[in-house]
Amino acid sequence: MPGQRADVVICGAGIAGIAAAYHLAVRCGIADVVLADPEPPLSVTSDKSTECYRNWWPGPGDAMVRLMNRSIDLLEELARQSGDVFHLNRRGYLYATADPARARELERLGAEISALGAGPLRRRAGRPGEAPYVPAPPEGFEGQPTGADILTDQALIRRHFPCLSERTLAALHARRCGWFSAQQYGMYLLEQARAHGARLIPGRVEGVEVGGGRVRAVRVARVGGTSVIATPTFVNAAGPWLTEVGRLVGADLPVFSELHLKIAFRDDRQVIPRHAPLLIWIDPQRLAWSEEERALLAESPQTAHLLGEMPDGVHARPEGRGDSTTVLMLWPYHTPPVAPVFPLPLDPAYAEVVLRGMTAMLPALAGYLERLPRAVVDGGYYTKTRENRPLVGPLPVEGAYVIGALSGFGQMASAAAGELLAAHVAGTELPGYAPAFRLERYQDPAYRALLEQAGASGQL
Ligand SMILES: Cc1cc2nc3c(=O)[nH]c(=O)nc-3n(C[C@H](O)[C@H](O)[C@H](O)COP(=O)(O)OP(=O)(O)OC[C@H]3O[C@@H](n4cnc5c(N)ncnc54)[C@H](O)[C@@H]3O)c2cc1C
Repeated sequence: MPGQRADVVICGAGIAGIAAAYHLAVRCGIADVVLADPEPPLSVTSDKSTECYRNWWPGPGDAMVRLMNRSIDLLEELARQSGDVFHLNRRGYLYATADPARARELERLGAEISALGAGPLRRRAGRPGEAPYVPAPPEGFEGQPTGADILTDQALIRRHFPCLSERTLAALHARRCGWFSAQQYGMYLLEQARAHGARLIPGRVEGVEVGGGRVRAVRVARVGGTSVIATPTFVNAAGPWLTEVGRLVGADLPVFSELHLKIAFRDDRQVIPRHAPLLIWIDPQRLAWSEEERALLAESPQTAHLLGEMPDGVHARPEGRGDSTTVLMLWPYHTPPVAPVFPLPLDPAYAEVVLRGMTAMLPALAGYLERLPRAVVDGGYYTKTRENRPLVGPLPVEGAYVIGALSGFGQMASAAAGELLAAHVAGTELPGYAPAFRLERYQDPAYRALLEQAGASGQL
């Protein structure tokens, strides 16, 4: 299949590649954009997410808050223009704690994130004359507050969230947050891109030809042969294979992958209200195992860690509309760096462990522990940089770009990340946060010092 050409070839039709194609084709008017992927669009990681979004991001610096605020602006714009085909809601994220020290930390961090541009922090302590806490509507996103409400009165918390543990001392409801149907959103972007000339070709990018220091062509292995597509521009949007595809242009991308799983099951006991926001428990905990279970778990190094202190962050939300009873739950309690392999190595204990962890926040879930519900377990890889910020921008070879390391925020960041990638390619004005996501940031001594300060995890 000789003699093809394109303005841009994007490697990968996950949400990163599709958002890039949308912005290049639809918003920048670059007609001849090719998306190459051997897998169906959105089928590797991008259809496994929890589909949530938030502008509530810690620092240092305001780059993540600004990126997400821009992304949510775009999501809202796309929702309006599409007749809300992807059901964008604005239910918020509810972070809750039963620990007085963490309650104080929630408030301190809340003030810090608010000051970064995420919106005002409203204190709701149940005092007379105080402005009332207004819950989020289950559907729709218009006319809702930004920022967060911090509820520190237990009676107020119980009134609005009776499903939470009576031990809950404080809850922070971040408001420019919610979820949407990520599959519908991605397909909408893809349809729009195709309507503006973008092409999807089934095939694996196996080589990038570089001549005179710049991209000349991309080789795509397809059923029946290899296509050589002459192009000045190559975009690496390969998700978990970002490193391998980076090597095709000699770029060493500082990313690694973690396996993250989630469960879905029918909440027949109706523990999680159907109108609930995303519910997140921010306290570490020890799981209550019987003596017999403890002995069994201690026998293997694969399971012994379940006996120690487990991390914060177990979370859940209702899924589906109408008469759906499905709920989703996740708990990243064991996520060492791994080489991505498919099919995913699923942990047989995961569903039970998550359910047990979630009972700290929602005690009525304990009713399921006698007879575990039938849960569907799936997931994918968080491919990330050590400081958990994305890579969007040019690579050292002229004409080569990357959009990736989207970790656990690729759906919510995709709109602004795609727009940023397109601005780099098209040479249009870059937003102020652009330098924070370029690969070159690692050459900046001040940035490297920041990473060192962040400690072993490197997470900023
Ligand atoms: C359990 C879980 C929960 C999550 N929850 C959320 C959430 O609530 N909110 C949120 O915003 N994000 C969430 N995420 C993260 C989000 O799903 C990812 O960040 C996002 O899907 C990554 O998109 P991607 O396009 O970079 O990668 P992918 O979707 O993996 O796409 C990469 C594509 O590149 C293709 N590819 C690779 N190599 C080649 C090659 N050589 N040639 C051609 N094609 C190639 C692959 O086939 C694949 O289709 C979650 C992720 C997981 C796993």
